[in-house]
Amino acid sequence: MNEDIQAKREQASLDIVKSTQKVIKEAIGYLGYSDDMYELLKEPMRMLTVRIPIRMDDGKTKVFTGYRAQHNDAVGPTKGGVRFHPEVNEAEVKALSMWMSLKAGIVDLPYGGGKGGIVCDPREMSLGEIERLSRGYVRAISQIVGPTKDIPAPDVFTNSQIMAWMMDEYSLIREFDSPGFITGKPLVLGGSHGRETATAKGVTICIEEAARKKGLDLKDARIIIQGFGNAGSFLAKFLQEAGAKIVGISDAHGALYDYEGLDIEYLLDRRDSFGTVTNLFNNRISNKDLLEKECDILVPAAVANQLTANNAPKIKASIIVEAANGPTTLEATEILSKRGILIIPDVLASAGGVTVSYFEWVQNNQGFYWSKEEVAERMRQLLIDSIDKVFAAAEKHQVNMRLASYIVGIRKTAEASHFRGWV
Ligand code: NAD
Repeated sequence: MNEDIQAKREQASLDIVKSTQKVIKEAIGYLGYSDDMYELLKEPMRMLTVRIPIRMDDGKTKVFTGYRAQHNDAVGPTKGGVRFHPEVNEAEVKALSMWMSLKAGIVDLPYGGGKGGIVCDPREMSLGEIERLSRGYVRAISQIVGPTKDIPAPDVFTNSQIMAWMMDEYSLIREFDSPGFITGKPLVLGGSHGRETATAKGVTICIEEAARKKGLDLKDARIIIQGFGNAGSFLAKFLQEAGAKIVGISDAHGALYDYEGLDIEYLLDRRDSFGTVTNLFNNRISNKDLLEKECDILVPAAVANQLTANNAPKIKASIIVEAANGPTTLEATEILSKRGILIIPDVLASAGGVTVSYFEWVQNNQGFYWSKEEVAERMRQLLIDSIDKVFAAAEKHQVNMRLASYIVGIRKTAEASHFRGWV
């Protein structure tokens, strides 16, 4: 990657860490803890950087950089996905691990936050190279992960096959079969029903609840979804099934918008495995324009920093549900909240994935597996309780939904750290 782009990307990730720290500090203040607690929680407790030599198909060795961050393990093992992306960097992995602590805290799961990443572009690698890299990463981090220490999962550009290779490698190192080491596995290796669609299902539940609170009937709602990957595409499908009109979608190449509604079935059929479809259309518009189009509900489900102080005054939606991690800056949050736009923040809206990952780990530990319906019902209940808790905190402290979700999300980690005598 061009060094300028990389430096910009790293700076953007550092800014995200700073914004996260700022809200964590405020949340800790509302909970009545001292600055010492902030000192503990402002960074991951453990951050490992590894260099992984991989024999490529052409016989040459390439050395990849990988990361694993563990934010805080006072509550229980840390948990979070592994991202394969050319632009992933240390600060991004740090921020993502902090958000995982918040998600686990909001849904009341017995976990702290973790996250991992490898700087690579799987779109340009063979399956064999991806397998060797996945196995190499597990060997490199094996000392600090495990079913009772830190449990990885899929994230951007990683999937159930990669989880299966990682689990297999771990079971070779640890000399026992350990499905609970990782979640997001194929069903035959101890995966859970509903894991693949869990994030989108969770976002759908948040949208239904937000619409109910705003008195908006989902059947009359017009929805724009930015991003048509794992999260965005399943979401479009579920919302259309619920009767909503999907008027806009987008991917890295551009966006499609039709006020009368898009043919989602057709677009799902034409998209590739990396969530690309708009390149097939001449009438596509830019992602920037899409965000400002007429709609009732806007769902950023792609990348960070999409809603900023520049476009926040022009957003037409009355509800924003953040399926992506970090799509809205703090300045934009303030502007949108002041305009009366209801924001369901990322740490709440995208918590469906970690919730079903938790169910997978529980099923692995007990060796007894639940039906699709049981998984769906348990997730619905946990998420609805979480949404209610965040709304109650916003009301009680008279704060915006982002700060309210941080207050709810950080409480458990802070309390556990306090009881353990760390602070
Ligand atoms: P994905 O890789 O499957 O899809 C990403 C989509 O975003 C693709 O359609 C891609 O073309 C598009 N995109 C990429 N760059 C873009 C850009 N600059 N502008 C507009 N679109 C762009 O990823 P995903 O798993 O769907 O994740 C999307 C977001 O949701 C990420 O922020 C991720 O961290 C978050 N998230 C995902 C999960 C999950 O379980 N999939 C869980 C929690 C959070």
